[in-house]
Parts: sequence; C-alpha cells; structure tokens
Amino acid sequence: MSYRVTLLPGDGIGPDVVSAMRACVDATGVAIDWEEQIVGAPAIVKFGTPLPPQAIESVRKNRVAIKGPIETPVGKGFRSVNVQLRQELDLYACVRPAKYIPGTKAVHQNVDLMIFRENTEDLYMGIEFDGGTPEAAQVIDAVNGVSEKKIRPDAAVGIKPISVLGSERIIRYAFEYAVRNGRRKVSLVHKANIMKFTDGTFLHTGRRIAEEYAGRVAFEDVIVDNMCMQLVQRPDHYDVLVLTNLYGDIISDLCAGLVGGLGIAPGANIGSQAALFEPVHGSAPKYAGLNKVNPTATILSAVMMLEHLGEREAAQRLEAAVRAVIRDGKEVTYDLKADRNDPTAVGTKEMAAAICRRLRV
Ligand code: NAD
Repeated sequence: MSYRVTLLPGDGIGPDVVSAMRACVDATGVAIDWEEQIVGAPAIVKFGTPLPPQAIESVRKNRVAIKGPIETPVGKGFRSVNVQLRQELDLYACVRPAKYIPGTKAVHQNVDLMIFRENTEDLYMGIEFDGGTPEAAQVIDAVNGVSEKKIRPDAAVGIKPISVLGSERIIRYAFEYAVRNGRRKVSLVHKANIMKFTDGTFLHTGRRIAEEYAGRVAFEDVIVDNMCMQLVQRPDHYDVLVLTNLYGDIISDLCAGLVGGLGIAPGANIGSQAALFEPVHGSAPKYAGLNKVNPTATILSAVMMLEHLGEREAAQRLEAAVRAVIRDGKEVTYDLKADRNDPTAVGTKEMAAAICRRLRV
C-alpha cells in the first residue's frame, strides 16, 4: 500500500530541505506517492497567488502534507501562506518537540519538551487595522465608546480573540498527548495577570480541563516572561507546554535555540481534517539554492509524519539514522560544526545522503 502525501517545497531554502527529506523518507522503504504542489514565490510567478486553490484542495483530499518554509514579506504584500493554510484547514494544534540530540551545540542537554501552540486564534488571526484608515477610526471609536482607556486616534489596532472552544481543544490535545505518552506534567503559559479576559479565558479553561486529568497528569500555570527565564535556566523542570498562538511561536523558537538551533527543530500542524508537517525555521532567503542549510528539521518533521501515518518502525529508524549522523559529526552541515566556517561541513544533499546510508546499515 502506498500513502498519497501532498508535497509543498515552498521557497527560499524550502526546495533544498524538502528534496533532502524526500530522499530520506523514500530510503525508509515506506511507499509514498508524493503529490507536489507549487506554493510561495514560484506560485506567485506562475499563478499570481502564493497559495493556489489546487494546493489547498490537494491537502484537503490527501489529509497529509509536508512543506518547506515560505517567505512572508514584512508589513506588505501577501498574507502569510503559512498562517492562511493553518486557518483554512483549521489546523488548530501546532506541535513542536524540542529534544536534545547528542552532537549538537545545545545550551542544555537535559531538554525533552513537547510544545503545543494554539494555531488559529490570538493576534495571529491577522485582524488588524492600519493607523489613519477609516476602518481603524471606526474600531477606535467603538472601543473608546465602551472602554475607560482611550486609544490614540492615529493608532494601528490589532484584535486578540481567545475563545473557550479554541482554548479547550488545544489544551485537551496537550493533555491527551501527555496521557498517551506517559508525560508527567502540563504547563500552561499565559499573561493573565495583565490580559485578564483573553489570556484569562485560556487559563480558566486550562484549570477546568486539568481537573479531568487530576491524578494522571500534573498541571501548573506559568506567566510567559517568567517561563522564558525558567526555560533558559532549568528546562528539565518542564515537560509538556501549552500556549496561545503568539507565545507559542516565540517560546518554540526559544526552545529550538536551547537544543541546538532552528536547523534541527521539527513541527506539525494538526486538525480534524488534515495534518501538515513542517520545520520550525523560515525560508532563510540568503541561503536559497546554495545546498548549504541543515535538512534535519524537515527530516524530523517527516519522522513525525511517518508516526502519524502509523509507520512507527520506519519513523524510529529514520530518527535513529539522523541521530547517528549528527553524533558522528562528520557529514553534517556548517551549523552543526563547532566552527561554522569549518571547511569539512557538507551540503544539504550530502548530509541527507549520509542519513540514507545509515538507514541501510
Ligand atoms: P529563518 O528561520 O528563515 O532564518 C533565520 C536564521 O536561522 C537563518 O539566517 C539561518 O542562520 C538559520 N536557519 C534557518 N533555517 C536553517 C537551517 N535549516 N539550517 C541552518 N540554519 C538555519 O527566519 P527569518 O529570517 O526570520 O525568516 C525568513 C522568512 O521565512 C520570512 O519571510 C519569514 O516570514 C518566513 N518564515 C516562514 C516560516 C514557515 O514557512 N513556516 C516560518 C518562519 C519564518
């Protein structure tokens, strides 16, 4: 039997890391029928949009996809394709493991965190009104009419919706993961001391759900700024983290930094209709097409995909091969070398080839 999976190479370094990942997955022997769809910068050239409808349809139909990063121009142009995909397919759970791999330049070795970031709400919904527009003026008037605090008339305004439904499903997802995988504690991260209603909704929902799991999984809540410091000083204190969208984005990069950088941090976006796997890192345009960057994050995202498909044995073999190549430290990309200018660093393709060879051993 073969699995049909939508393949979205993306842009920037996306095509480099995605083709490296594809070679490794094919080398596991799991039969995958890759359905490639163009998204990002090349799709703008070809179809006039970075997210053509056929790409979304393909993910909807196949229910499983893996993608490379896609550039989002800052402050202008198209909306983030990544955010759009998550919203259109209601991929509400962003799952990002941060686990130490021997051989990396990790700040800490005792890190094994699972991060669950809410993916559809919060300031990331993109409900924003630019300062000086009639729409912003209307929103400011409406808010000033009901709030004691007055927004300045020239302000740009963003809206932060946090619903009970949105909070409940991601928090439950984190608890269910903890139960299934024998994890000891869920830490809910918030700033409800300041944002009493938005973050407050997330916190109160978490406290309510935690009661259902009492005696099986411990629960605590931690204020986000304190969490940043705690994670840097004693990451071993934490296990499963559940966060709203913006904090989840920031904290997952922080955790990627703790275990050796963006080059090795995988991720998944899961909903009831589809699952989309992708590295945490972005499109690093300055390295595009240079066969230079680390393919590990995308290959480990494929490990998560294989697990999702029920191919646990292949997933374990692929993860072991990645770990073996990194532990050896020879055939690895520049970012995994002690000196980033080490001339013995290999390219993206060569590191993937070393992983494929390990798989065959
Ligand atoms: P980035 O992750 O692209 O790059 C930051 C730095 O991290 C790079 O300069 C590089 O030094 C390092 N890095 C990233 N990936 C690496 C890899 N595989 N191997 C080795 N080093 C690696 O972040 P950025 O520069 O802030 O963003 C660039 C673009 O990517 C932006 O347009 C941003 O919006 C977009 N982005 C997309 C996604 C996504 O597609 N899911 C995620 C984050 C950022």
